[in-house]
Order: sequence, then C-alpha cells, then structure tokens
Amino acid sequence: AQNDTEEQSKSTRVSYSMIGGLSNQLDVIRETIELPLKNPELFTNYGIPPSRGVLLYGPPGTGKTMIGRAIANEVGAHMTVINGPEIMSKFYGETEARLRQIFSEASQRQPAIIFIDELDALCPKREGAQNEVEKRVVASLLTLMDGIGSEGHSGQVLVLGATNRPHALDPALRRPGRFDKELEVGVPSAVERADILQKLLHTVPHSASVEELNRLAESAHGYVGADLAAVCKEAGLHALRGVLGGSTHLSDQQLKGRVTVTLQDLTWAMS
Ligand code: ATP
Repeated sequence: AQNDTEEQSKSTRVSYSMIGGLSNQLDVIRETIELPLKNPELFTNYGIPPSRGVLLYGPPGTGKTMIGRAIANEVGAHMTVINGPEIMSKFYGETEARLRQIFSEASQRQPAIIFIDELDALCPKREGAQNEVEKRVVASLLTLMDGIGSEGHSGQVLVLGATNRPHALDPALRRPGRFDKELEVGVPSAVERADILQKLLHTVPHSASVEELNRLAESAHGYVGADLAAVCKEAGLHALRGVLGGSTHLSDQQLKGRVTVTLQDLTWAMS
C-alpha cells in the first residue's frame, strides 16, 4: 500500500461487536450492503442492480471507518482506505491514475471495498466553478463507479464514501447507480455512549459497574466514539502509572493482573 491508501491488516480487524451505539445502522448494513456483496447473483437474477456506492455521513470520530472495516471483515472482502485530501494531487492526471489503479486492484480482488474518507475533498460541489483538477477527478470517479458490475466485473466491489458534509458533494455523485444509499452516523445519545464505553472496555480489566458506566456516559455530553476511546486510553495509562508508582522496571509478568481501570481513572481521564 502506498501512503495515501491503507489496506486492511490483522491489527485493524474490526467486528460488528466492537461497534457501539449504531445498531440501527448495522441492521441496515447487514441487509443492504452485506447481502449483495456476498451474493450478487441474488440481486442480478431479479434484475436488481446491487448498490455500488453507499455514503456514510456524520461528524468525525463517530465510527464510519470502523463500519467499513467491520463489513470487510464480515464479508472477507479486500479493503482499501483512501483519504480524500491526501489522494488529491496537483500533478496532471495523477489522482485519476491512482483511482484507476485502486479500482482495478479491487476488481481483481473481489469481493472488495473501497473506502473513501473525506469524499467531499475529492468531489466538492462548487456551483459550476469546480477547478479543472476537480472536474476531471469527479468525472473519472463516476466512470469508474459506472464500470462496476459491467463486463468482466461481477459487481462485488462496493465504494463506501464518508463525509462530514453530504451537501457539499457534487450532486452527480448522489444519483442512482452511484452513491445511491445514504446512512447517517451521528453524534451518540447517552444510551449509545454507554454502549460504546461498554464495548471499548470489553477487553480491558476494569472495576466499574454497569450503573457507573451509565452515569459516566450520561455526563459525557457531546463526546463521540473517538473521544470515548481517548478517555479509555488515558484512564488505562492513569491506572498503569498508579501501579508503577514512579518505578520504570516492572516486567509484564509483574504487571499482569495488577492494572485494573477504576471509575476514578475514567472520571480523571474525562475531566
Ligand atoms: P473520521 O471521519 O475522522 O475518519 P470516523 O467516523 O471514521 O472518523 P473512526 O475512525 O471509525 O471514526 O473512529 C475512530 C476511533 O474511535 C475508532 O478506532 C474507535 O476506537 C473509536 N470509535 C468511534 N466510534 C465508535 C463506536 N461507535 N463504537 C466504538 N468505538 C468507536
């Protein structure tokens, strides 16, 4: 993988069970994304073209990339992550060439998912005033997406676009056959934050009760998943510092079983 894309590796394996607070979205995904990726013939036999593009929209850090990784993992799909701003190049034709290469690789490795983070940077709407580079990039992305499911292509390639600003996208991208499904991944409610905390702490030795975590989640107004993940990490470091007590040479064995994250660590990390 080059530095503007990233491929799914073992260390980034994400399953649906690790994603908190998005159960409605995950239900929709199972039915409308997973099924056609796994069994495209189910759809094509009935003349229903499988979706080629799905737009996930919502603020940063709410779990959009996680969703992409979880689908890829569940379906056993190859996944390439592209970052919109990073792949935009001022050099003539370079962005289009990279896109062509990524789509061609995906079609060779079907089922495959192409995840485009910050899609709006790649395809902005500029009220008839897109610059030359942007015009060419939008046109080539559309051509590449229209090619999915055509000859030599069984259609098991899905493009997931993530954006913070769905209305800033070139409207041509949101027509049928392109990003024709949209799913909101919004800021979590208190109940959803509690679910996210439970999931983040699932593999962490901790002593906070369900009620305590619920109360903590309630007080974390405005926190998204990425913020809660940062809180858990800070709390873990705080607990570790407490056990180390200034010493720097305890072995893993000595530490094992002694670091438990408490409600105090979590509260400290949140303040
Ligand atoms: P961006 O738009 O900035 O790329 P994103 O919506 O794609 O953000 P992710 O990259 O999926 O967000 O989330 C960042 C990290 O935050 C995840 O690796 C995970 O640790 C945590 N996280 C975010 N949302 C959730 C969630 N719903 N459940 C559990 N963890 C979450």
